[in-house]
Amino acid sequence: MFDVNKIREQFPILKRKVNDKDLVYFDNGATTQKPQSVIDAVSNYYQEENANVHRGVHFLSGLATDKFEATRKTIQQFISAKHNHEIIFTKGTTDSINLVANGFRSLLKKGDEIIISELEHHSNIVPWQMCCEISGSTLKVIPLLDNGSLDMENFNNLLSENTKLVAVSHVSNTLGTINPIKEIIEKSHLIGAKVLIDGAQAASHICLNMQELDADFYCFSAHKMYGPTGVGVLYGKEEILNTLPPYQGGGEMIKEVSFEKTTYASLPYKFEAGTPNIGGVIAFKSSIDFIRELGVKNITKYEDGLLQYATSEILKIEGARLYGTSKNKSGIISFNIKGIHPYDIGTIVDKMGIAIRTGHHCTQPIMKRYNIPGTVRISLAVYNTKTEVDICIGAIKKAQEMLS
Ligand SMILES: *Cc1c(COP(=O)(O)O)cnc(C)c1O
Repeated sequence: MFDVNKIREQFPILKRKVNDKDLVYFDNGATTQKPQSVIDAVSNYYQEENANVHRGVHFLSGLATDKFEATRKTIQQFISAKHNHEIIFTKGTTDSINLVANGFRSLLKKGDEIIISELEHHSNIVPWQMCCEISGSTLKVIPLLDNGSLDMENFNNLLSENTKLVAVSHVSNTLGTINPIKEIIEKSHLIGAKVLIDGAQAASHICLNMQELDADFYCFSAHKMYGPTGVGVLYGKEEILNTLPPYQGGGEMIKEVSFEKTTYASLPYKFEAGTPNIGGVIAFKSSIDFIRELGVKNITKYEDGLLQYATSEILKIEGARLYGTSKNKSGIISFNIKGIHPYDIGTIVDKMGIAIRTGHHCTQPIMKRYNIPGTVRISLAVYNTKTEVDICIGAIKKAQEMLS
């Protein structure tokens, strides 16, 4: 059974006070808190296991390498990838997208097109702009409908024989929209385009199966999945990763180096130059184990219930307007209250120990679309409760009184 109090006990930070109040943490879209098992795994690595991976013959190097590779295997199972060498460790979602954009630009020519959408995080916009600038290809954008879902009719029209890559997020970090990625992938494949999915807001909330989904690339960050910062994953299909040139050159990624010619290592090492965040990768396994023990389906169900409750409570606040009202949503709520700047709400509720995000959430085009300076955002995780929602709503109403 899903016992949220038991879950909360595993997160030491939830016991702390902020401004003399119990912490209420609703900024999970920015990063999640970490359970004790993840904190222990990081500290245990430095206390007991520290050595570089894939190099030495000595005991500790073997141990660190085994544990590092065990995380890769765990992730392969977690997302049902076909091979474990299709899992590339990166610094995070941003790094994963840059890796693909960097490689892809050498496969593109003038006249080729890349499609993204209006609701993308800056991480899934800027690398493609850079890629287009260098390769001479063109960026196309799927517009948003008023409810924060993608205009799929427009997408159908954008797709053409010039489309080489479609890059969209699984879940919008600002609007909470769950995009119809299965449909996007199928339609893109019909015309021979590859698809990259930015899964930063999906990986700890929605069940993933790479073989069923058939995405060519899928990216996520450990720190939004109860894991450490500085670790991310690029999943890519073997045959497509093999067509990309390496991202960075250096140690670990080579087979043989001479001044005349260097040959590259095979997957996944070809894309893992230099010493990785070993302790972080090892601890990432503990966060996946935490998620798997709860069960992703149970997590989705619990968070959906909380999303519905929080949404209906926010709508009871006078002058509240939601951004992102699509039928398919994950646990992210963006809203504003008439006549009040989001920043002022954030500042006042912080005094009451409540962490919410205000601003553009690295999605300035969405702000432009709705013609607003920013939103207040509540983003949910598995340790949040209805009581916390009530505390937060009470605090927002108080802020509203103070500001009007
Ligand atoms: C957080 C986020 C990113 C960037 O992730 P980093 O961990 O900062 O690299 C990209 N896309 C979405 C949708 C995000 O929420």
